Amino acid sequence: MPLNRKYRFFFITKARKIILKLGTKVLLSHNKDMEHEKISRLIEDIVHYRSKGYEFYIVTSGAVGFGMSTLGVETRPTDLKKIQALASVGQGLLMQKWNEVFSRYGIPVGQILLTYDVVENRKRFLHARDCLNALEEYGAVPIINENDSVSVDELKFGDNDTLSAVASNLIEADLLVLFTDTDGVFTRNPHRYPDAQRIPLIEEVNNDVLSLIEDRHNQLSLGGMRSKLKAAQMSATAGTGVIITDGFAPNLRAILEGQDVGTFIKPENTFVKEKKKWIFFNQKIKGKIFVDEGAANALVNHLKSLLPGGVVRTEESFDEGELVGVFNGQGEMIGKGITFYSSEEIRRIKGHRSDEIRKGIEGERRFNEEIIHRDNMIVFR
Ligand code: GLU
Repeated sequence: MPLNRKYRFFFITKARKIILKLGTKVLLSHNKDMEHEKISRLIEDIVHYRSKGYEFYIVTSGAVGFGMSTLGVETRPTDLKKIQALASVGQGLLMQKWNEVFSRYGIPVGQILLTYDVVENRKRFLHARDCLNALEEYGAVPIINENDSVSVDELKFGDNDTLSAVASNLIEADLLVLFTDTDGVFTRNPHRYPDAQRIPLIEEVNNDVLSLIEDRHNQLSLGGMRSKLKAAQMSATAGTGVIITDGFAPNLRAILEGQDVGTFIKPENTFVKEKKKWIFFNQKIKGKIFVDEGAANALVNHLKSLLPGGVVRTEESFDEGELVGVFNGQGEMIGKGITFYSSEEIRRIKGHRSDEIRKGIEGERRFNEEIIHRDNMIVFR
């Protein structure tokens, strides 16, 4: 097997945190309803892989689409307030449908409506992430859409392809599956040229790749292939692999078993590197975390995350998401990183084992075992 095919196979079959992005055309094309065989098969597959320990997050469109069909609106309005009103009518119905299809298997779903400020505001970003993690802990499938009825211009993702890229960053997903109307990216428009060839793997989404795309728009969908590739580019830079594949005959098993379907966009690891660069060059620490010898050794010599068990005390007060220094017993700074917890919270959880943290200290549920994840930390050796 050529090296790239091997890489693709290993990457995909190792992926466990998966985002599935379904657009309005895919969801509502068959009979203006979500109740069709293709979706039922997809849900069956999700149920199957969940039982093997996979996590699924769904980014769904359809709020505006359901609103349009309920109110008998045939042409998508351009007036923002009308689009917002349609989304407001349709979002509830959309959730009702997702709830119906999953409740057959006794699986609860949770609605997450995001606005663009999660991108700009790290605190909001972290809260959204906590909520998504908590949903997973409860065994509910997160169903994510843009909060269309309150999103305006600069606060908008614009299309759900972009939203799914941001979600993959939030969740630190392994794999994002973008379902669309063709089985991946082709050398020419496959709807018009029968000799068009599917591209099984894209190393990097660059201008050469983007120049292959000829987008068509319709009443239901906002993003075309270009916006899918842009989203793939964003996700790949953040370390999430992406598959663009056929949503009209979604075959999750073939995808997750590493079969040669759709187009795979290779993830880069530069995001972690970039983040570490930022941590490295940022001089201003907001506070200090002192650790015991065992933790210092685990961090410096074994590149582990910082866990509450090894923390002795903190100095200065800081919030979650801020840059802090990590110090050993001799008062030397041995590392720097972005903390998942505020100084106040660390005071409560320090010294506790990870399993106690998972269960919750003082009746409080927290979901990150690490105080600083190794991806958010640099150590000085
Ligand atoms: N968020 C919109 C909806 O649910 C759709 C955006 C898109 O299709 O990209 O109707």
